[in-house]
Amino acid sequence: MNILVINAGSSSLKYQLIDMANESVIAKGLCERIAIEGSRLVHKAKGETFTFEKDMPNHTVAIKMVLDALVDKKCGVIKDMSEISAVGHRVVHGAEDYSSSVLIDEKVLESCRVNSELAPLHNPANIMGIKACMEVMPNTPMVAVFDTAFHATMPEKAFLYGMSYDDYKNYRIRKYGFHGTSHMFVSQEAAKFLGKDIADTKIITCHLGNGSSITAVKGGKSVDTTMGFTPLDGLPMGTRSGSIDPAIVEYWMQKTGKSVADAMKHLNKECGMLGLSGNSSDFRDLCDGNALDNPRNKMAVDIFAYAVKRYIGSYTAVLNGVDAIVFTAGVGENTEYVRQQACSELDYLGIKLDENLNNNCPRGQIADIATADSKVRILVIPTNEELVIARETKALANL
Ligand code: AMP
Repeated sequence: MNILVINAGSSSLKYQLIDMANESVIAKGLCERIAIEGSRLVHKAKGETFTFEKDMPNHTVAIKMVLDALVDKKCGVIKDMSEISAVGHRVVHGAEDYSSSVLIDEKVLESCRVNSELAPLHNPANIMGIKACMEVMPNTPMVAVFDTAFHATMPEKAFLYGMSYDDYKNYRIRKYGFHGTSHMFVSQEAAKFLGKDIADTKIITCHLGNGSSITAVKGGKSVDTTMGFTPLDGLPMGTRSGSIDPAIVEYWMQKTGKSVADAMKHLNKECGMLGLSGNSSDFRDLCDGNALDNPRNKMAVDIFAYAVKRYIGSYTAVLNGVDAIVFTAGVGENTEYVRQQACSELDYLGIKLDENLNNNCPRGQIADIATADSKVRILVIPTNEELVIARETKALANL
């Protein structure tokens, strides 16, 4: 049985076709520049990469191209559409409406639309992806898997800001948290690796990528996380500032004479590693080879790793101890320097990194990089958000 996983952005659409018999990816790809000149589909299947350069004026055309590629004689992997049992869609914001994944119907689509005000950059694109699939595959069950759902278990003391309670009640202003599928997946993998019942674990999951967040997971449930009302909160990231004093926004606008929209663009697109280094938002450009010899690169990465360390300390207090710290996603899985800095001088908390294991960590598999006598395990675990979406879809579509 095959499940198609769709992650639709405003001008892109990523997909994976997963054979659930052995949870293997049989085809995957990316539609780029949807509704922009120069659109193309890069499709990977049968160990080869196929590129189709064709106009994609909207998401429906993009989905049709993906489905055509999947059944194509040369690059296809299935005979016809009947071999796709269900479609799982990543939806960024479920607000307080959804604490778990859901089978999509008109009512679900409508609440995703209403929640677009909370995620204006993401939900409208996710909805376009869902509607495009519904148009092309009207009889195939579709499931929405929300980035926010895993964090629905946070207690009020963690998710409410110190603002007026009316702001929460009237405008839904609260911490929602994101990257939920990743935090859920790696915390479950960590419990399995530790040979423990997840109900008895305390785990801090560090999803460090272009966007980054850290979650305190107690007994398999999110109890606090660093991203907030939006994914701008928490750690400094590739191009996002992370948490700042909110009064800075007005001061910056006065100084620069710029608008609220400019301020939001600045904080989302021009800050973080890019703004600090003045060089790049990509950790490879900042850390690989002798890139760290550039003092601005080193300063940026040190600020990032210091923020990770602060949250590890803070969440160790939240959890009253910790069994394992997990590093995942592009930076967490690949950047030794960040892991080393984030875990440095934490021996008081029983967290001791083995430098040699850290520097020789195998790619693409689970590794324990703590010293033998470290009280806390330090794990590197490859994340797999698509697999979580496929599993949830299989369960909800009753397959
Ligand atoms: P993600 O958002 O999880 O895809 O992570 C993307 C970021 O991870 C990139 O911007 C890079 O900074 C970083 N990254 C990905 N691969 C590597 C690698 N092999 N070495 C160092 N950093 C990497």
